Amino acid sequence: MTTTHETHYLILGAGPAGLQSAYFLDKAGRDYLVLEASDQVGAFFSKFPRHRTLLSINKRYTGHDDPEYNLRHDWNSLVSDDPELRVTNRTQEYFPSADVLVQYLGEYAERFALRVRLQQRVNTVSRDPETGAFRLECASGDVYVCKVLIVATGIGRPRIPDVPGIELATGYESMSVDADDYRNQSVLILGKGNSAFETADNLIPTAAMIHLISPGPLRLAWESRFVGDLRAINNSFLDTYHLKSQNASIDGVIHEMARSDSGKIRVSFSSIHVENEIEQIEYDVVLRCTGFCFDDRIFDPSCAPETTLNGRFPALTPGFESVNVPDMYFMGATTQSLDYKKSQSAFIHGFRYNAVALAQLLEERYESTPLPYEPIDPSPGGLTKSIFKRMNVTSSLWQQVGFLADLVVMPGDGETMARYYHDLPYAYLRMHGARISEGRDFYITMFRLGHAPEDAFNHERNANPFEGESSTAIHPVYEFYQPTGSDGESPTSTFHVLEDFFGDRSASEYIETSTLYFESSNQSHPVPVRQLEQARLMARDQNMRLVDEDARQRRAARLREVTAAANQPRDAE
Ligand SMILES: Cc1cc2nc3c(=O)[nH]c(=O)nc-3n(C[C@H](O)[C@H](O)[C@H](O)COP(=O)(O)OP(=O)(O)OC[C@H]3O[C@@H](n4cnc5c(N)ncnc54)[C@H](O)[C@@H]3O)c2cc1C
Repeated sequence: MTTTHETHYLILGAGPAGLQSAYFLDKAGRDYLVLEASDQVGAFFSKFPRHRTLLSINKRYTGHDDPEYNLRHDWNSLVSDDPELRVTNRTQEYFPSADVLVQYLGEYAERFALRVRLQQRVNTVSRDPETGAFRLECASGDVYVCKVLIVATGIGRPRIPDVPGIELATGYESMSVDADDYRNQSVLILGKGNSAFETADNLIPTAAMIHLISPGPLRLAWESRFVGDLRAINNSFLDTYHLKSQNASIDGVIHEMARSDSGKIRVSFSSIHVENEIEQIEYDVVLRCTGFCFDDRIFDPSCAPETTLNGRFPALTPGFESVNVPDMYFMGATTQSLDYKKSQSAFIHGFRYNAVALAQLLEERYESTPLPYEPIDPSPGGLTKSIFKRMNVTSSLWQQVGFLADLVVMPGDGETMARYYHDLPYAYLRMHGARISEGRDFYITMFRLGHAPEDAFNHERNANPFEGESSTAIHPVYEFYQPTGSDGESPTSTFHVLEDFFGDRSASEYIETSTLYFESSNQSHPVPVRQLEQARLMARDQNMRLVDEDARQRRAARLREVTAAANQPRDAE
């Protein structure tokens, strides 16, 4: 018998993203349900990663006791008002086992009594053209109807490359992870991401030969500064390649795989670095570790979301809504289409904050609840104080660098306080800042990464607090807007606060330069940022505590000397 359930909000999927969204709907007292195919929440992590070690760090000891600051170094916990629950309180393993996460997610759902219906696999999602309601039909026969749908189904569908003979490869999702099953075998691994390297690492002691192949060159996380690129925890394989242990990493394109007479798998490929050459190598085993994508097969044509990045993810507005299906939102790993390989929306420590933003946007749109803000002192010193107080500890802007941002709306006529809005997508603020500010001047404040140096371990840094734009590391950036009423406002000026070794802006050079910027920008005729150089000279005249140029040059010269000495050939240590 079909039972039909109606709710205002439905969340599809009880992974970390579905649970995080449910937490906020529950807290706001909204009418919602979460539907989950599996018999447990967090089911993805009960199987993946296959070798069971998370790539997300779990730093229990930070020397700080501020729960907000500590979340910067706890990449696995969800946002909640109970810091005791966190994963950091469960294990001190820096890279914990995925089993810890599954247990944590179960307890999180229970602790906040989130309304999750397990074993409700949704087979079809359609939309009633008359009412606009979404209709979700489950394998159980139950039907759920909702006005607003939040799809949090993750990226559980393996991506299978279009290569003749690919069926001879065994997928990461079903391969054996028992290294003894590969004893003395030659193994080809398709892919060069973390799952490929995690697999290779596991086989180093037993396999006779391991090759990794994909067309793109290897991206090391410490160079690209993207945590989804190859992490140090997975890269011991690289030693075995460069120190000649029968293993190799190949930048190449596979033409074909076929079963040879000997029963092995013959693979024909060309290296992208060698012209006009086709190699043929026979392997005992080929393992496919080529990543995962969003599964859009459940959507009926009445509400099929457009996809992007070769169909891997849904195409989204800056407010996480499908670009072509109104009232259908996405949360979790699928939101990485908005910041692909830039910030952290592919991971818990990124999308947990996207869920914070989405919760605010849903409240504003469907419940007529204005976006929450904190009233702050709008004087240049007051702005600096409030912004630094937040930026010295915030984990959301820190993790979602360049993606999430804050908004400071300056007072209009007769008003005395500025309004400080937190945690909204930067692209959304560019689009909606003038609407939210109702035409008042505003600042967007966020963190940005500076330009990546060519050599991640050997580059100069600028210590002049007026030249924050030369920062290479994470640092605060302010943009000032004076709305003109046109579509898509552009900043009138931009200011970079110099990077700081500890990410702390309590020192006077940061406070003084920031205050000076607010003084110069927050006038009826703001001073363009290039004129700050003049302000710098003025500030020097006023004996502001600036970094002494001579001392800076002496330090730079000394650094060059030390670097040159360090680069001299030396005997093996
Ligand atoms: C190999 C690998 C390792 C990873 N390691 C990490 C890591 O260490 N740290 C990290 O932060 N991220 C990691 N990720 C990224 C990871 O995918 C996400 O962080 C996390 O799983 C995404 O959460 P989510 O809630 O968006 O999706 P999921 O965790 O995948 O949750 C989606 C849920 O939706 C349910 N569902 C799907 N379809 C239906 C349906 N039709 N009906 C009902 N329910 C459905 C699923 O059963 C599942 O429970 C890894 C990814 C891969 C591929």
